[in-house]
Amino acid sequence: MDDYESHEHDVMVVGAGGAGLRAAIEAAAQGASVALVCKSLLGKAHTVMAEGGAAAALGNVRPEDNWKVHFRDTIRGGKMLNDWRMAQLLTQEAPDQILELERWGAVFDRTPDGKISQRPFGGHTYQRLCHVGDRTGLEMIRTLQDHAVHQDKIEVFMECTLTGLLKDGNRIAGGLGYWRESGRFVVFKAKAVVLATGGIGKAWKTTSNSWEYTGDGISMAFAAGADLMDLEFTQFHPTGMIWPPSVRGILVTESVRGDGGVLKNSEGERFMFRYVPEAFLDETAATEEEADAWLEDNLNNRRPPDLLTRDVVARAILAEAKAGRGSPHGGALLDIASRRPPDFIRRKLPSMYHQFKELAGVDITKEPMEVGPTYHYSMGGIRVDADTAAATVPGLFASGEVAAGLHGANRLGGNSLSDLLVFGRRAGLGAAEYARKLHTAPVVDRGQVEEVSRAALAPLERASGENPYNLHEELQETMEEYVGIIRTEEALQQGVARLEKLKQQAGLVKATGTRHYNPGWHLAIDLHSLLTMSEAVARAALERKESRGAHTRDDFPDYDPHFAKVNVVVRLVDGEMRILQEPLPQIPQELRELIEEET
Ligand code: FAD
Repeated sequence: MDDYESHEHDVMVVGAGGAGLRAAIEAAAQGASVALVCKSLLGKAHTVMAEGGAAAALGNVRPEDNWKVHFRDTIRGGKMLNDWRMAQLLTQEAPDQILELERWGAVFDRTPDGKISQRPFGGHTYQRLCHVGDRTGLEMIRTLQDHAVHQDKIEVFMECTLTGLLKDGNRIAGGLGYWRESGRFVVFKAKAVVLATGGIGKAWKTTSNSWEYTGDGISMAFAAGADLMDLEFTQFHPTGMIWPPSVRGILVTESVRGDGGVLKNSEGERFMFRYVPEAFLDETAATEEEADAWLEDNLNNRRPPDLLTRDVVARAILAEAKAGRGSPHGGALLDIASRRPPDFIRRKLPSMYHQFKELAGVDITKEPMEVGPTYHYSMGGIRVDADTAAATVPGLFASGEVAAGLHGANRLGGNSLSDLLVFGRRAGLGAAEYARKLHTAPVVDRGQVEEVSRAALAPLERASGENPYNLHEELQETMEEYVGIIRTEEALQQGVARLEKLKQQAGLVKATGTRHYNPGWHLAIDLHSLLTMSEAVARAALERKESRGAHTRDDFPDYDPHFAKVNVVVRLVDGEMRILQEPLPQIPQELRELIEEET
């Protein structure tokens, strides 16, 4: 292996967003030597974009809040398909994790009496999101990064993309990556690997996700034999920018609605009152006066319908547009200008103010915003054990958006940032413990290294072939059209057929230029994970013949009791992608009662 740059650590963490940083900090705290590998510059991970806040039942604004109510909200939001143990751990541990972040230097917004301020968000009974204006992710990354870079045991490899995992028999032995600048390969030998590479949003055309979200981690885990789960549940956030076309998809944070903004149609009607699902009638305000009272002083539990879960709001916006009551460019109008003074808007929503002013020429203190659904989050990902974050391949761990289970059929806003802290820590702990207990270190096999590097170099070495940018565009159009918010058997089948064709074309992709900083080549490599994950999403969506949470089937519009009991699992068997149904772990009676007694 002398001809390859190579590094050896106890634990390799791939990804330096919230989950990866927290995992690396914990693994180092347990005494493990850690390689922290990320394909962007340290500090520029997708987590930086998070706006609204991190959900934790601190009870600072509403003393009645506690983990049990948060647990109930999370499970109900996930339509009972969540891994109950993950939901329990998240809701019990999030408050301590937020306080720890504060001790490490995070400066959250405050209540008048000096506690961490908490704002309302969709699907949360009480004001629960700890935030820093609408730049919470930036503060989180800043704090975690500052903490991580002062740990001697963490070695950072940034602008380095991992392309494949390496195994010794059936257990993990490390991974192969390349430096984005030079294109040179680097071997990471590690006893345990934590994947924290985030989601797959770049498979869709209208997306709030950053360039990093090409599904690399999920795809590498799949290739290494790990189970994937819940991939059919893709969250479309109801409020992305829709005009001008160049900014379509950029997120408009839910905090706008949490801080008093309301959705209106072209007739000026607050249409969300017409879309309250029966199950939520008791909890959702029936009149504008009740909704306003909640937002003003939060004295009762009847939430404004604008803050129903994202799946409900996204479908309502689509329905209004379809009925001819959409905004000028086919979405809805989000109005905070008529409801809050300009100073309040600029203070609580500084990024939104600048985003609309600079990108759309709209002053949100004076005019409504035009918004529509945008692909936002993957509830599905790598199947993990709740307590240790271990995947189904020995030595492999996963946390953050790359992992599955916590959010079930639909994630509540704010639950991701707390997920990163709670399960990032648990993944770091799990990986360090696994590494410590290993009797023999795994050995990296040269043949595997050469196989992964050959596959990565193939697009550069072909004399001619498909253009990676064209293929990516076709993929995004396919996913948008056939695997979007509203799905049918026919559309999904057509989508799968198109993906099959794209896979064949991607096998012949040609990147021009050399290995030196060559984004076309990087995309040619990423196409493999984008296509693998897109196919897995489409096939899982075909398998779930019902509508639940973020998965809406026009041809199966209702819940099906059979599918309430199963997860759709995607597994590689003899080189083939297999789609299976596996029983959902049974929720213990005492936790079931928590949900039922309140319902
Ligand atoms: P990321 O932060 O995305 O980090 C992924 C890391 O993996 C990066 O360092 C990347 O470089 C690296 N990586 C990827 N592939 C490779 C590879 N092949 N090799 C090496 N490194 C790799 N959630 C909330 O709870 N509250 C919010 O208010 C909120 N607001 C949001 C606003 C926006 C605009 C968006 C897009 C999302 C928001 N979310 C929010 C969701 C949340 O931000 C993400 O789910 C979360 O940040 C994901 O964190 P992560 O650590 O899993 O991954």
